[in-house]
Amino acid sequence: MANFDELSAAQIAAGVTAGDFSATELAKASLDALDQREPQVQAFLQTSADLALAAAEATDQKRAAGEELGPLAGVPVAFKDNMHLVGTRTTCASRMLENYDSTFTATCVQRMLDAGATPMGKANMDEFAFGSSTESSAFHRTNNPWDTDRVPGGSSGGSAAAVASGEVTLSLGSDTGGSIRQPASLCGVVGMKPTYGAVSRYGVVAFGSSLDQVGPFGRRVEDVALAMNALVGSGRDPYDSTSQDCPVDFLEHLDDPIEGRIVGIVPQLMEVEGLTDEVKAAIAGARKVLEDQGAKVVEVDLPNIASAIAAYYVIAPCEAFSNLARFDGVRYGYQEEGCSTLAEQTSLSRAHGFGEEAKRRQMLGAYLLSSGTYDKYYYPAQQVRTLITQDYVNAYKQCDVILMPAAPRTAFKFGEISDPTQMYASDMFTISNNIAGNGGISVPLGLGKDSGLPVSAQLQGPAFKDRSLLTFARAIERGVDAGSGLGKGAPVAPDFAGRGGEL
Ligand code: GLN
Repeated sequence: MANFDELSAAQIAAGVTAGDFSATELAKASLDALDQREPQVQAFLQTSADLALAAAEATDQKRAAGEELGPLAGVPVAFKDNMHLVGTRTTCASRMLENYDSTFTATCVQRMLDAGATPMGKANMDEFAFGSSTESSAFHRTNNPWDTDRVPGGSSGGSAAAVASGEVTLSLGSDTGGSIRQPASLCGVVGMKPTYGAVSRYGVVAFGSSLDQVGPFGRRVEDVALAMNALVGSGRDPYDSTSQDCPVDFLEHLDDPIEGRIVGIVPQLMEVEGLTDEVKAAIAGARKVLEDQGAKVVEVDLPNIASAIAAYYVIAPCEAFSNLARFDGVRYGYQEEGCSTLAEQTSLSRAHGFGEEAKRRQMLGAYLLSSGTYDKYYYPAQQVRTLITQDYVNAYKQCDVILMPAAPRTAFKFGEISDPTQMYASDMFTISNNIAGNGGISVPLGLGKDSGLPVSAQLQGPAFKDRSLLTFARAIERGVDAGSGLGKGAPVAPDFAGRGGEL
């Protein structure tokens, strides 16, 4: 008997389609794994056993009726808790939305379900996706499955930990400045932020609308490609005006050789303060893996990238301030009782409904958009954004993808980073890509030589060349599987006492 966490999404869908096991057996195996592992990992804010069993049953009935099954048939999936799914609450890990029932289902969630996936529940996150460690969740922390004294990264920390611990096979997260790629790196799984516009955000609670993008986590690159097909396959979503048609089969060139293709590296990025030696060594290993397969490495320049974090922490809080203004204690969520005026009610609902980081972001946004300050910060930040976008356009004239770290260091301990600006620096390698709107992916390289914790490479690519990112990611995975680089990548994280999830 196999354990279900040893199966990839592709193997599960094939097995369910062939009748080797049923979707219901898979759902029960995932529920069993959740029972065993959640006490240690705490990746979920809410599990949805009833929804899971009903969806699995529907898949099994479809098969019994001889109907064609979707490409994710029977695959257990978790959704970040900023995505609406009817039958679950959508809390954004905030007291503000603690009792908020989803009134509709997000397009990204629906597309995974339409492909046959089984919804296992809603994953923990930083409150409203502000953060890099999931410590700002109003409800509980999520532990890194590799070392439960350490953070899983964030803000999609629950989504990453649920996959890394083998509780589910795939999950969805959102990435505004790195929130898929950074936790994927800290948890040792594959995490992809597609190009802005590739995946619909309809039904995903907005943070920074010009930056937000939804994407998948999986243990294998192929699984992420499968999820990408489900997410973008049926074309643009008329409910998200930024969504674009992306008529691409992400599996089609997955195993193509990369011989003769060109990988850019940015030497200045490998010297930044805070980048650890083991991550540097791992990236050198990834470079060698790509060169061994015939890729050519060239140096490229991104001259304005050092300003990316500063620009992001102007643009993102401004957008967050405007998006979160709707949480006024009247229309949604937490409402302070016993107030004598509307002003008092709004003020106290917001004061008590939001956590510290959510307030910091909104106050920053309010300040930055006020008259007099706007010209000093917001306008120049948008100019920097244009420069960074242009830097990438120039760089991609010389290379197909850019290789760099996904995170400057491996998973840190709870409470270790208390200074917000230091936390913001966790995204030093990911933010510029959101600013430019391009795609990026984290690929596990194995365990770091000093910390023994997962280390990843990040590949970034030009807009709407996400398929080529997957081809390069697959090349790295091949090399890591074969034992080059740092050793075997993407294992299911450590031993759980009474592992659960037997099929
Ligand atoms: N860590 C970054 C922030 O706090 C990015 C978060 C995200 O991508 N959602 O804003």
